[in-house]
Amino acid sequence: MRLNDFQLTENFNLKEFECPCCHTVLLHPLLVLKLQKLRDEWGLPLIINSGYRCEVHNRDVGGVVRSLHKVGQAADVRVPNSEHEKFRALALESGFTKALCYGSKNFVHIQIGD
Ligand SMILES: [Zn+2]
Ligand SMILES: [Zn+2]
Repeated sequence: MRLNDFQLTENFNLKEFECPCCHTVLLHPLLVLKLQKLRDEWGLPLIINSGYRCEVHNRDVGGVVRSLHKVGQAADVRVPNSEHEKFRALALESGFTKALCYGSKNFVHIQIGD
């Protein structure tokens, strides 16, 4: 069995949130609970482009210094460009405090806390 291969909710596994460079992971329970709610509302699988990021990886991808990815409170979800506004509205309804659309990169950043 692989480390972090652990089903957290119906549709999300801990390994989906791992840092890609070192496989470490921090995840706020509320992030995944709200993600599951959002996934249920959305009705389609949600692909996590980026979950937890260690300091090094955050720097490598040009993340902001105080990125909530570093504390397990943010995720980037792959969403086709044309669906961004709809997804953003649904994310806010599902309890995320912020949803930022990155049109050119086909993902939406969502986070809890501030
Ligand atoms: Zn890392
Ligand atoms: Zn992000």
